[in-house]
Amino acid sequence: MSGTRTHCPYCALQCAMTLSTTTADADSVAAPVATVRAGAVTVAGRAFPTNRGGLCKKGWTAAELLVSPDRILEPLLRQVDGTFEPASWSDALDLVAAKLHETRAGFGADAVGVFGGGGLTNEKAYQLGKFTRVALRSSRIDYNGRFCMSSAAAAGNRAFGLDRGLPFRVDELDAADTILILGSNVAQTMPPFIGHLEGARAAGGLVVVDPRRTATARLTDDGAGMHVQPTPGSDLVLLLGLAHIVIAEKLADLDYLEARTTGFDAVRRSVSQWWPTRVQEHTGVPVWQLRELARRLAAGAARGKATGNGTYILTGRGVEQHADGTDTATAAINLSLLLGLVGTTHSGYGTLTGQGNGQGGREHGQKCDQLPGYRKISDPTARAHVAGVWGVDPDSLPGVGLPAVELLSALGEPGGIRCLLVHGSNVVVSAPNADRVRAALKTLDFLVVADFFFSETAVLADVVLPVTQWAEEEGTMTSLEGRVIRRRRAVDAPNGVRSELWIWQELARRLGSAGTFSAQASEVFDELCRASEGGLADYSGLSYALLDTEEPAFWPYPVGSTGTPRLFLDRFAHPDGLARLVAVTARRLGTPAQVGGTLTLITGRLLEHYQSGTQTRRVRELSDAQPDARLQLHPATAEQLGISDEAWVEVSNDRGTVRCRAQVSTDIRLDTVFLPFHFSGDQRANLLTDDETDPISGMPEFKKTTVRVRALVKA
Ligand code: SF4
Repeated sequence: MSGTRTHCPYCALQCAMTLSTTTADADSVAAPVATVRAGAVTVAGRAFPTNRGGLCKKGWTAAELLVSPDRILEPLLRQVDGTFEPASWSDALDLVAAKLHETRAGFGADAVGVFGGGGLTNEKAYQLGKFTRVALRSSRIDYNGRFCMSSAAAAGNRAFGLDRGLPFRVDELDAADTILILGSNVAQTMPPFIGHLEGARAAGGLVVVDPRRTATARLTDDGAGMHVQPTPGSDLVLLLGLAHIVIAEKLADLDYLEARTTGFDAVRRSVSQWWPTRVQEHTGVPVWQLRELARRLAAGAARGKATGNGTYILTGRGVEQHADGTDTATAAINLSLLLGLVGTTHSGYGTLTGQGNGQGGREHGQKCDQLPGYRKISDPTARAHVAGVWGVDPDSLPGVGLPAVELLSALGEPGGIRCLLVHGSNVVVSAPNADRVRAALKTLDFLVVADFFFSETAVLADVVLPVTQWAEEEGTMTSLEGRVIRRRRAVDAPNGVRSELWIWQELARRLGSAGTFSAQASEVFDELCRASEGGLADYSGLSYALLDTEEPAFWPYPVGSTGTPRLFLDRFAHPDGLARLVAVTARRLGTPAQVGGTLTLITGRLLEHYQSGTQTRRVRELSDAQPDARLQLHPATAEQLGISDEAWVEVSNDRGTVRCRAQVSTDIRLDTVFLPFHFSGDQRANLLTDDETDPISGMPEFKKTTVRVRALVKA
């Protein structure tokens, strides 16, 4: 079928699809059809190494986003009575520019803040960082990826000197003998991915660590592997215990450790106190299972050396979204290094990026401490290089800003942020302690939100700027395996909406900014490639022309190279070429919650929804299937609390209260309850989560929250 070759707008697997706009084709393709202005858009899965033609229901229905009646189709200005009135683009941007001017003149450049998103294309992520530092001269930019990948990224940088989610191709997992997945429900978050687990399942080697018996955990049934169900928040202890067993039972790959790493002695000493019975006490995982898991991983690693069918350790948000998330991811990396998995041709460690451009979104400068190419903004050499590409004085660039939670805490505070621009994020739903964030947004002098729907954050704005969507624009995304791919325009955007690239160009002009701001994605990409040259995430050998050949384009891709699908084969990215084992300690040991008293809340995703649900709640098929939040709890816990299936419950702590229906299920531990985080109003799971952050990465504590649960109507 002919059509536009592009990729799904949602998650980081970036499944390949073809969009056809010819109505004649529509009847011949077994896919949902959504009507657009120019006729009909048909979505078809397309052969590609990551998805092999498969899509999940989010991908199949993605075209509905383009024709949603909820699209914002003209700029909106808040009136004194709180209502919104449409305005011309010229009037809206004049007002925004005037407010930016006024705020900077009155309170300094850092009184303007910018909040970006991991779903923005590479071009937008790059341009947003440049716009903030050059046109606004503010240091205060960060993004929602801080809530997503920051701890794993910090751990990867610390261990390897470089963070690329998967430092190998996704389809290399096909040959694996053993795969350990910690804290990721890929069967629901990215269903086509599970095709890559079949080899390990056939070998009985799939191990899933999750407090819930998720769809992914069920893949281990019938001899396909093992499900380990630890106490929420005890992942770090679990990993320290596994490292203890590997060392104590002489299962570590000492030749590898000697040749390719430093820090083994310190880690050996640090895990010595985590003997199996102590780990069992803190994690609830029985000693026999700890030993079996450690031995299985070691045996798989040894077999991998001989057969090439190796062992992989993969982490997800379940173990990373903690206030000790960097140390937990580090412990997973330590275990991988002890087993000799990383930087080989057959095995590996990786973290499963979630947001569509969660990988590229963290490379090009929308982080508070970063310049394009994964460069540090505090590095004088990096500042000089990037300033040269931008045509500005390096000394004019601001320094390190505030990570996301601190940035949101600075809203409306003395010396803080008085004017905020939000692009590609819905913090009223996605930020921890969400009502505190909502209240802080209301204290701002001026809030600008660019979105294509009226998100929960947009309804608080003074100006809402309607923007183009995935299938209406050109750009690039970088998938979870570090593959740079083309997003292509298949349909015309509605008349009233504009690309963010155009918006920033117009605002920069109105602000009299130095430098140039192109509104053409290909020109921005070429500039991004030059700015990244010589950095860790080097895109300098890439171009739209090369990407259009469908070559696998894995960064680093410096000029003259052919890309780097598998990293670290010869050396790690630290100057001495060695990986670092880093001794970490469990600082946050907690007493497991008690049934009948408080319970531990964990949050996560559903198959039908994506992130804050701004998009997927507006797709009828997805919304019909999962219209609202359900609190999952164990039957014994439910009975003790007088709660029946489908009954209304109240989940609360001193940060907030969620009201929703109950889903009684044996898939969850007695001491734990689960809420999806996609919903609105008083069903926002993040009303309850804590904004305490990891001191290294700024990751909030999303995955271990103490709550009280009660029936609203007695069963
Ligand atoms: Fe889209 Fe992710 Fe589903 Fe693939 S798995 S169709 S990328 S949401």
